[in-house]
Amino acid sequence: MRLNRYLARAGVASRRDADEIIAAGRVKVNGAVTTEMGVKVSDHDAVEVDGQPIQPTDLAYVLLNKPVDTLTTVSDDRGRKTVLDLVTIPKRLKDALFPVGRLDKDTTGALLLTTDGELAHRLMHPSHGAVKLYLVEADQPLTEADIERLKRGVDLDDGRASADNASFVDDDHRRFGLQLHEGRNRQVRRMVEALGRRVVSLDRVGYAGLDLDGLRRGRWRRLEPHEVNTLR
Ligand code: URA
Repeated sequence: MRLNRYLARAGVASRRDADEIIAAGRVKVNGAVTTEMGVKVSDHDAVEVDGQPIQPTDLAYVLLNKPVDTLTTVSDDRGRKTVLDLVTIPKRLKDALFPVGRLDKDTTGALLLTTDGELAHRLMHPSHGAVKLYLVEADQPLTEADIERLKRGVDLDDGRASADNASFVDDDHRRFGLQLHEGRNRQVRRMVEALGRRVVSLDRVGYAGLDLDGLRRGRWRRLEPHEVNTLR
């Protein structure tokens, strides 16, 4: 759409005022100042006004701290609670909102939801996807050799899987941090099972550089424009 309409739709200014802001050289598109109001932009261009990134209002980016017992799906035909039930944003946006990837019903922690299909697609890339940080609790202690195996790779029925990093976070060696960039189905649980242990709790404490600081379990917030830019 035309740049002036885009700015108006993002709530920056009325269409007429947007023309003036553009003519004054205050707007950059993909890093370059543009004074043409008719230039065409899409939701995937980076638009800044006075150096501040802006987001069109029909793109939503939500970070949820998922609690246990919620399904990562947009609706459930058996009426069970879904992650969408926890997010209260205008219906127009909510209807287009979907989770980026999936956390198991009993996994807690950072889950991104968005209406931005292109970004979601990139973050979910099977091998170059977003970096995920998990805090894992196993039913029995692991050894240092187990931690090394997680980093070197373990064989799963859909191929070898390795952690970018893994380290203990306690002295009894049942709790450890695990960093992955892949996101296969039940991957952490299956990697731990490959070591002969079982996951008793799984918490995603970081996703694509976003953490849950200040966001309590079951709560959500919209991402700030500068956070969205770091995901692009
Ligand atoms: N790995 C799992 O096993 N489960 C999740 O929910 C996320 C990653």
